[in-house]
Amino acid sequence: MNVDLHCHSLFSDGRDTVEHLLAHALKQQLALLALTDHDTVEGVVPLQQLAESEAIRIIPGIEWSTRWKKYDIHILGLNIDPHHPAVHQMIKQQTQTRVIRAQLIAEKLKHCGIKEAYEKVMQQVEHGRIARPHFAHLIVQEGLAPDIKTAFARFLKKGQVAYVPTPWPSIDDVVAVTQAAGGDAVIAHPWKYGLTRTKLQELIVAFKCSGGVGLEVISGHLEDNIVNMLVHLSQRFDLWCSSGSDYHGEGLSRVQLGQQRALPEACQPIWQRWMEAA
Ligand code: AMP
Ligand code: MN
Ligand code: MN
Ligand code: MN
Repeated sequence: MNVDLHCHSLFSDGRDTVEHLLAHALKQQLALLALTDHDTVEGVVPLQQLAESEAIRIIPGIEWSTRWKKYDIHILGLNIDPHHPAVHQMIKQQTQTRVIRAQLIAEKLKHCGIKEAYEKVMQQVEHGRIARPHFAHLIVQEGLAPDIKTAFARFLKKGQVAYVPTPWPSIDDVVAVTQAAGGDAVIAHPWKYGLTRTKLQELIVAFKCSGGVGLEVISGHLEDNIVNMLVHLSQRFDLWCSSGSDYHGEGLSRVQLGQQRALPEACQPIWQRWMEAA
């Protein structure tokens, strides 16, 4: 089955409208599509409405920003009720955190020679949640980096001048909200945090103890050895496996919507949980 359980729209740091995403997904003949914008579900209901008479099932999703030890960890909430009050309460908190962080990032960028970065970035953010890629775009526009990746490497990444440690909620908190909203919590792109295997296991154990059930075994572009390691971890810790492109828009993503590699045979696809319940 063709699925994509991780992608972004204009409602966060993606470049596509939900109309565009749906058209793209239908062309790819995806059976399931989860929209997982950063800390918002704003695009979910419009996408569901657009897809009502189409041969595709929209899985309501979100990508929560969390803090675990000194790491910023992303947790996907999949198949959640997008109307649940606990979800909205957490989104409200995350939005405030994003605004405060953005003001602090802007303050740091002022010292680097970019005036009124907050105001300039807010002009870019039409519907979305303000995110670091918006600042990366501004840094490029202001001529301080040739491209987005370099803007992150020079300014926005952890340890760089405009990085701001953010008081994101704990994994425990977002897993609880996800569960309250009837959804499944999944560790997003587990290989992206630069964790050693031991540290990754520690993260997985903490996540499981919180009630998390899934691991994103396939996410964007991955080498065989990483996939093998993640499959092994999913088996060792009895986790359901997820698969997504983490698509942010053409030109922004190495892997296009629905074009991530197939989930290995040894995996238990997380969407089986939703088929049985349907
Ligand atoms: P935020 O949630 O505001 O911290 O922004 C995180 C987003 O920034 C991620 O979801 C990616 O889309 C993007 N991002 C993070 N690191 C990089 C990087 N090194 N190069 C390009 N984009 C990045
Ligand atoms: Mn992103
Ligand atoms: Mn992420
Ligand atoms: Mn993502």
